[in-house]
Amino acid sequence: MNVPLLDLVAQYRAIKHEVLPALQAVVESQQFIMGPAVAQLEAAVAQLSHARHGIACASGTDALLLPLKALDLRPGDEVITTPFTFFATAGAIHNAGGAPVFVEIEPDTLNLDPRAVEAAVTPRTRAILPVHLYGQMAALERLIAIANRGGRGIRVIEDAAQAIGARRSIDGEWRMAGELGWVTGYSFFPSKNLGAWGDGGMIVTSDDRVADRLRKLRLHGGGKQYHHDEVGTNSRLDTLQAAVLLAKLPHLADWSARRREHAAYYSAALAGVPQVKPPVVAPGNEHIFHQYTLRVERRDELQAHLKAKGIGCAVYYPVPLHLQECFRHLRYQQGRFPESERAALEVISLPVYPELSREQLDYVLDAIRGFYR
Ligand SMILES: *Cc1c(COP(=O)(O)O)cnc(C)c1O
Repeated sequence: MNVPLLDLVAQYRAIKHEVLPALQAVVESQQFIMGPAVAQLEAAVAQLSHARHGIACASGTDALLLPLKALDLRPGDEVITTPFTFFATAGAIHNAGGAPVFVEIEPDTLNLDPRAVEAAVTPRTRAILPVHLYGQMAALERLIAIANRGGRGIRVIEDAAQAIGARRSIDGEWRMAGELGWVTGYSFFPSKNLGAWGDGGMIVTSDDRVADRLRKLRLHGGGKQYHHDEVGTNSRLDTLQAAVLLAKLPHLADWSARRREHAAYYSAALAGVPQVKPPVVAPGNEHIFHQYTLRVERRDELQAHLKAKGIGCAVYYPVPLHLQECFRHLRYQQGRFPESERAALEVISLPVYPELSREQLDYVLDAIRGFYR
């Protein structure tokens, strides 16, 4: 049997009769730039996020970079984030002119540890940038409380690239990813839970002023045509991509539910394997399992074993960002964040895409059990 890490062809086959006509309509209209599908998608994703504004842009990376630019960071201004994330999170901070300040993660959820964040706040802290890793929200309400304490005016920017549609129960109410942060960035990279047929991203916010500013920043800082208030960039979402995403969006809740079912099936079956720790879902969180990520003993050997059996798996992420060559100037030493460094040695992500069959899940489980037997 062959179980790829992700099978986008299976998804394509199931929905092509919905997506292709939508694409054809864009082609017939020849409105490739900022056609009506873009505004429709912005409204739909804002609504899903319980936010007032959606601002589509060219990538998930830009969905972080543009809000960070809107902070007008000065040299030495600090943005607190996790070292255990995809590179873009910290790269965006650097490219916006800020200094990434890494802090430790929680050992169970692998999300930013609020106590570590509190300890890292300085007078130069301008923002906290939590990542909702693998599709599970960080302890956002605690991070927001830290940001607001004593009128500090620190902004919270959610990196929800992996967490569209995730939610968290806070004081007995469901809060969506993208609802409580000042600004939130999504990615529509093809492998994300809501994936385009190319690059794409979206920013959501309920702050009217920053929404206006972000709309300008993505179009060369212009308001009135050929009049520029500031220097922005070209970071639009293609109408074709918006049409693909609009056609896919009605399926998202069902796809995430399927991922949750697969995750529950894996976790129940692996409970009896002592060398394996299934992912921990924090109380109150509804995980969307962008990745189903275990912590395991002999990780690299297990990965080779699974690959030999035709099972796709991957390590997200093998090198924590504080140890990346490009951030050497930040002077973090090995050993500085033991939980992040341990996670980088122990994690492995298994196939969890919605179209997986029970037989495929069983095949993966048998391979893992067989390895540790
Ligand atoms: C995918 C991803 C991004 C960047 O998104 P792109 O669309 O690839 O630019 C940023 N942060 C995290 C956590 C991601 O997983």
